[in-house]
Amino acid sequence: MNNFEQLKKIILSHKSFLLTTHVNPDADAIGSQLAFYEILRKLGKTVYTVNHSSTPYFLKFLDPKNVIEKFDEKKHSKLFEEVDVVILLDLNQSKRIAHMENYFLKFHGVKICIDHHQDTENIFDCVIGDTSYSATGEIIYDFIKSTNIVELNYRLALQLYTAIMTDTGSFRFERTSPKIHLIAAELLKLGVNPTKIYDEVYDQSHFSKIKLLGETLNTITLDSTKQIAFMIVTHDALRRTGAEEADVDGFVNYCLSIKGVKIGILFYELKDGVKISFRSKGNIPVNKLAAEFGGGGHLNASGTRLFNTTIQDNIDKVVKAAQNYL
Ligand code: 5GP
Ligand code: MN
Repeated sequence: MNNFEQLKKIILSHKSFLLTTHVNPDADAIGSQLAFYEILRKLGKTVYTVNHSSTPYFLKFLDPKNVIEKFDEKKHSKLFEEVDVVILLDLNQSKRIAHMENYFLKFHGVKICIDHHQDTENIFDCVIGDTSYSATGEIIYDFIKSTNIVELNYRLALQLYTAIMTDTGSFRFERTSPKIHLIAAELLKLGVNPTKIYDEVYDQSHFSKIKLLGETLNTITLDSTKQIAFMIVTHDALRRTGAEEADVDGFVNYCLSIKGVKIGILFYELKDGVKISFRSKGNIPVNKLAAEFGGGGHLNASGTRLFNTTIQDNIDKVVKAAQNYL
């Protein structure tokens, strides 16, 4: 039995499910979670969708009925004693669900991971997907097609298209294959409007986001090799502009739009530490670079969170470490 059949069997033989995704969720996270919600609801299952972080405002169009809840320990921790199955989508390491982690690790039911990142933790009963997938949404598409567990419909197509469009950088990143375009074609045939989805995700920004982008672009710095560019987002800049953490998604890519730059780094100031985002061109494995600092991710896009430290304490160290990958 392949993994898809195993997952189908688990789904058909259980009644209640909790679906969750990573902190600071992106469109692949939310789209995949809501697509799975649709599948399970079509099958008459009891489904809870609960995340550590709230859904960013530019992804709310994916969840018009507000089925996703923000984790509240008092209200939701008991779910880990009640449901049969917990599914983590678009992450493969339990620390990425933050305050829900302890409950997940103690959960006695079936633990499933549906994901496309490297270095999957050895804590799951069933792992679906691998790093060859461009998006978790693509895995779910394959799961539906190969098992016929439900029929694709417009709602599913909308979620899966948004997941795939964003995780492929609007169909330009490395894993944009003929297969991805064929999937996109099928989703469009189901009524997905690509103009509208791009507009919802990228062109309905708050004014504050664009002001913050301006400030962030002003911080851009090249290292001595001129092959590494980095930028900084401070608390102060967020306060001044009124932007929020989710608005910073995508800023780091501007580093790679400079000729000759192969590694882009963004330092984001947290309440009690620093979040670092890495991006690279070609074969430069920034997931390995992130791993040096306790993080992970994909070959060309990775990140980490460091606590009890400051941005200034880390710039030199991190840029020096990055130079070893040039
Ligand atoms: P971003 O920079 O957009 O937040 O994250 C890019 C990618 O890096 C994510 O898709 C995820 O794979 C990975 N990533 C980001 N932050 C972390 C982290 O703290 N730990 C791990 N293991 N991976 C991360
Ligand atoms: Mn993803």
